[in-house]
Amino acid sequence: MNSPPIRPIRRLLIANRGEIALRIMRTCREMGIVTLAVYSEADRLSPHALFADEAYCVGPPPSRNSYLRGDYLIELAIRHKVDAIHPGYGFLSERPEFARAVEEAGLILVGPSARSMELMGNKLAARHTVADFQIPMVPGSPRAINDPIQAIEIAKEIGFPVLLKAAAGGGGKGMRVVESANEFAEQLERAHSEALSAFGDDAVFVEKYLAAPRHIEIQLIGDQHGNILYLFERECSIQRRHQKLVEEAPSSCLTPEVRRTMGEAAVRVAKACGYYNAGTVEFLVDEKLNFYFLEMNTRLQVEHPVTEMITGLDLVRLQIHVAEGHPLPIKQEDLQINGHAIELRVCAEDPLQQFLPDTGTLDRYRRPQGPGVRVDDGFREGMEVPVHYDSMLSKLVVHASNREEAIERMIRAVQEYEIKGVSTTLPFGLFVMRHPAFRSGQFDTGFITKYIHGKTLYPQPSKEQLRVAALTAAWHQEQQQTDPSGRQLVGQQPTSEPSNNALHTQAGNGTDISSNGFTPWRINRGF
Ligand code: ADP
Repeated sequence: MNSPPIRPIRRLLIANRGEIALRIMRTCREMGIVTLAVYSEADRLSPHALFADEAYCVGPPPSRNSYLRGDYLIELAIRHKVDAIHPGYGFLSERPEFARAVEEAGLILVGPSARSMELMGNKLAARHTVADFQIPMVPGSPRAINDPIQAIEIAKEIGFPVLLKAAAGGGGKGMRVVESANEFAEQLERAHSEALSAFGDDAVFVEKYLAAPRHIEIQLIGDQHGNILYLFERECSIQRRHQKLVEEAPSSCLTPEVRRTMGEAAVRVAKACGYYNAGTVEFLVDEKLNFYFLEMNTRLQVEHPVTEMITGLDLVRLQIHVAEGHPLPIKQEDLQINGHAIELRVCAEDPLQQFLPDTGTLDRYRRPQGPGVRVDDGFREGMEVPVHYDSMLSKLVVHASNREEAIERMIRAVQEYEIKGVSTTLPFGLFVMRHPAFRSGQFDTGFITKYIHGKTLYPQPSKEQLRVAALTAAWHQEQQQTDPSGRQLVGQQPTSEPSNNALHTQAGNGTDISSNGFTPWRINRGF
């Protein structure tokens, strides 16, 4: 590989909005780089537009008329003498035609090459690209399928249930589980039309549908000198509609040996497509810790902060550094995992209505603070949650010296976070943090389907849990009678309650989750 020339970045346009635009700008400010924000008419008063050194309106609210106007953004960048464009995630970040146009305009894209995006942007192309690099893959059809009869034969060979996947898919969209041959033709037709309308490409392929896998991904960073490092894993198995809601690093299930093997496999994936800059290789992992390549995301991920917390690195700084043409300033052997980090995506969604997006005004918005808490957001109190963009309000990230403490810290931070005016995933975050399956590390991508039933965020209690609940309630009542103040006692539990027991003590009826308030004894250290 020829060494690239060093091209300093002094002015950077951020082709994105909200929390990620702000997050990138903060690092730029630390590096002395002038930031240019773009904003739609709906985002005129958004923190990202106000924070930037310069800000330019790029059109009306719908993304296609503003944040997705690649040619216009490049024109703007040239007009304002920008050196580089950072695309963030989503929007234009994985579009090779945009990457190419940026390059042709003589600008630097803070990201990988257009070629790497092309090779990894399509799930089928990605499978072909890594085929010769000893990367274990979920069994699947090598090509897009059209003929249902032939496709059923492939599905039978793989074994039902299978997953129909849009080759151009992303964001958890364009996937259909098919349980048997009878329903195959109908599901295939639907998958084709969904893929076409969502991604403008109707190519669909078949993959074995793994039962109860975990989603574990490897963060990579590479330079243009051929160096590529793995920055360990993130576990993202808590998902709704195949989209992540809670992420943590490190995973609670990997051994050091599997971690290294997965990291090295991810580096081979990156080498297969000549990758540089930040990227993520996603795997599914079964209960025996066998792992299978899913795809590579050729951008900075939403959940990158958990990696930053455990490695002490600033991924955006590294992205800019390698985009300028510098070699990576670190080596694999310099890297180590420090403590444990968890991220909760705080979305304007109602967890009790199948996570349906909600909109409204943030009548009250107060972030949690204190040790080990980081909130990446793009909102302020009084702001409307716009209907035009995704439902994520913020990322609540905590870091502590071990997993148990990180969970306790997340519970504290969620309870401190005040959001009024829209439903959010905060109560869901509490539910996860207190759930025995999550706490014990025994969970998979089916967590929500398994444990959220109807109108309650509590799993149906087992007989044993009901018995413990009755005992606890009796003990609690007794304590109140003996405590003349009538106050509830914090941090004490009956000795009959197993230390790892569930939170759903009160006869399993679930709890009003419209507020974050829980009685103190239910959040004590015991469980
Ligand atoms: P997208 O690009 O849309 O995010 P992915 O291929 O990355 O799609 O998969 C997203 C999620 O869908 C995974 O984290 C996992 O929960 C589920 N999934 C994908 N492929 C499979 C599979 N073959 N078996 C079981 N679950 C899968």
